[in-house]
Amino acid sequence: MNKQPNHCIKCTVVSCANHAKNENYCALDTVSIGTHECNPTVSQCVDCESFVLDNKSHNSCK
Ligand code: SF4
Repeated sequence: MNKQPNHCIKCTVVSCANHAKNENYCALDTVSIGTHECNPTVSQCVDCESFVLDNKSHNSCK
């Protein structure tokens, strides 16, 4: 089901349950961003900690 997109938060992670689905935006009011690194240096070091796996998404990360 499509959710109301928050146009302040662009996101292409459609496997997330919080994704608006009909547009490439998050549907949450706010998101929490963090890192799994002790010294993040590139964007790959940074995570959306509000991510929740959408149960309808069957594609696993390889
Ligand atoms: S919670 Fe994070 S990963 Fe999920 S749709 Fe929102 S911004 Fe994207």
